[in-house]
Amino acid sequence: MTGKLAIIYSDDYLKYYFGPDHPLRPQRLWLALKLMESIGILNDPNVTLVEPQFCKEEELELAHSPEYIEMVKYFSKTGEGYLDYGDTPAFPGMFEVTRNIVGGSLKAADLINTGKVQHAFNIGGGLHHATRSRGSGFCVFNDIACTIRYIQRKYHLKRIMIVDFDCHHADGTQDAFYSEPSVLTVSLHEDGTYLFPGSGFVFETGEGEGKGYCVNIPLPPHTFDEAYIYAFNEIVPPLVRAYQPEILLQQSGVDTHYTDPLTSEAITINTYVKVFGKMHKLAHEICDGKYLMFGGGGYQMDVVARAWASMLCEILNLPIPKETPEPWRELYENISRKIGLNAHAPISMGDLEVMIDERMKKKIFEEVKQVVREVKERIFPTHGIEL
Ligand SMILES: [Zn+2]
Ligand SMILES: [Zn+2]
Repeated sequence: MTGKLAIIYSDDYLKYYFGPDHPLRPQRLWLALKLMESIGILNDPNVTLVEPQFCKEEELELAHSPEYIEMVKYFSKTGEGYLDYGDTPAFPGMFEVTRNIVGGSLKAADLINTGKVQHAFNIGGGLHHATRSRGSGFCVFNDIACTIRYIQRKYHLKRIMIVDFDCHHADGTQDAFYSEPSVLTVSLHEDGTYLFPGSGFVFETGEGEGKGYCVNIPLPPHTFDEAYIYAFNEIVPPLVRAYQPEILLQQSGVDTHYTDPLTSEAITINTYVKVFGKMHKLAHEICDGKYLMFGGGGYQMDVVARAWASMLCEILNLPIPKETPEPWRELYENISRKIGLNAHAPISMGDLEVMIDERMKKKIFEEVKQVVREVKERIFPTHGIEL
């Protein structure tokens, strides 16, 4: 069960760069692509590498106010100041590069909806914090919100579902569709009590006609593989089957990884393979394989590369190699040296099990089970799913 896959990437994406001291390092995208290349993904007959193209300004207006777009243009010229309260600094050319990233996501949508491919992955996409009139959390424009609007307008889809795996709550995407039953948004993230952006609680379930079509699964810090997979399995597949989306979207952030410097979850690569693999299967089961993946967070460059390359192997039904190829390790170490990290490249593609104290594990699992119960109680009745 595979399908044709388009990978959307351009070296131009590397210009999405907030400066040397910022945790979002664009080189992670290049390293991910190089790892995909070196383990043979790009040579697979089902795979095409596609260049993004700049979206039009009116396509940004699908999800952003003209005033905000003008503001980004201005900041993009001066390269000074911040789009938010200090996380998202302006840089010269930010308008153009973000237009290219949004254009990449729209291209992915076109390729899928015209039947050229079944699956597409825009490596640079997934900018889920930007809202209609505000940049936030390293996100200038919300390519996911633009893409959903674009699909609604151009292809007249009535049911679109997005599952956001980033460790941070998908607040911008949630805001854009909060009162619409035609878009089901699901976000699994670290509890907003502990992490930016401080939202995404179980009681945020949508409003008006959209009540029950916004799903938040806030997880306690140190949520580990078994508990994470439990939460996913209990909630996401039943919702996909009940809602019957015409296309399945995924924000593929991997900042839930146990080594991520910005967050406190305890997830390993093996879990990404499992949950993303399940998403892919659900897309085949429910929506003719229509499956659009965006990138997302991830602040360890090697994790981003290994996780996304492994995810694509799983989707393409290719074996995941045990070890990272030697030439890729060299590329990784060169870049790491250049930016002053001097990190060793990981030899293993996967991760070892994370050791967590058994008592703590039990406590976390109980908390996760409680969250799952609450989410089901608030959401499942709307969809006619038994508790
Ligand atoms: Zn497939
Ligand atoms: Zn994130």
